[in-house]
Amino acid sequence: TSKDDGKGACIFYSDCIRDRLLEEKDIENHMRAALQNGEFVVYLQPKIELGTRKVSGAEALVRWNRPGKGLIGPDQFIPMFERNGFILELDLYIFRQVCKRLRLWLDCGLTPVPIAVNLSRVHLHNMEFIEKYQRVAEHYRIPPRLIELELTESVVFDNFKIFMDLVRELHQVGFALSMDDFGAGYSSLNLLKELPVDILKLDREFFRETANNDRGKTVICGVVSMAKELNIRVVAEGVETEVQAAFLKKIGCDMAQGFLYAKPMPMGEFEAYVFGRKLDA
Ligand code: C2E
Ligand code: MG
Ligand code: MG
Ligand code: MG
Repeated sequence: TSKDDGKGACIFYSDCIRDRLLEEKDIENHMRAALQNGEFVVYLQPKIELGTRKVSGAEALVRWNRPGKGLIGPDQFIPMFERNGFILELDLYIFRQVCKRLRLWLDCGLTPVPIAVNLSRVHLHNMEFIEKYQRVAEHYRIPPRLIELELTESVVFDNFKIFMDLVRELHQVGFALSMDDFGAGYSSLNLLKELPVDILKLDREFFRETANNDRGKTVICGVVSMAKELNIRVVAEGVETEVQAAFLKKIGCDMAQGFLYAKPMPMGEFEAYVFGRKLDA
């Protein structure tokens, strides 16, 4: 019943919070079973070589196929899994699915493209994950050069020392490290100089706004040429228009990923897209 004393609004508000807590509890009760039941699905989005327009890689992006609720995107559940720690299990599961699929491609005599897997910031404080990942890759006999790990730029500032250790260990194993979402936060160009990363992923927002004005163009151009001099490959993410693609190509960006080329798709569709055939998994 609506009253003008504001009580109704108050009850409505606490109802909302209660619903959210119930929903979180509900998810926590179901997430492990969901993993067992194969409800978490890997989608692949192609990375395109800007020079040749060929597919030269892919990024694995998780989706949750919740019975009765449809396909849910990572933004809806990853923050919660980072809070309750389940992200470590989920990321390992995604990594294993990717290795299995690479093995299938190798067994079919196809030439696999490297696949990038996202890591959560939580991994920085659980470095033993590297050994686990290494064992999984070895189990499926996947050459480490086919694996890239993506870590978002925003974690680096607070964890510089840990981050340096991480890169060193990953390189010992042979996995490439990709710096995700570069330019989204307060990136420092100095950082680029210090960090032995292999790949830089320019955040969508970084060139979406910036590519429209001259000062912005100068900054992006500088970042890309600096990266190139440091032998870091550059990928632009979220490329949606031919104008963006042409600009990025002109300034020497190596690869692009975005809806202009393809959306993230189920692995079977990705195989049809890249290899021209669907495989029986
Ligand atoms: P991200 O790693 O930066 O991934 C790129 C995001 O941009 C993806 O969103 C992708 O679908 C979207 N995208 C790609 N091209 C375009 C485009 O042209 N336009 C627009 N508007 N968007 C585009 P998605 O799949 O919703 O993933 C969101 C974030 O969730 C990812 O950002 C990543 O940080 C995280 N994430 C996804 N999968 C995993 C995972 O398996 N583990 C972890 N820890 N995080 C993941
Ligand atoms: Mg990523
Ligand atoms: Mg990104
Ligand atoms: Mg992003």
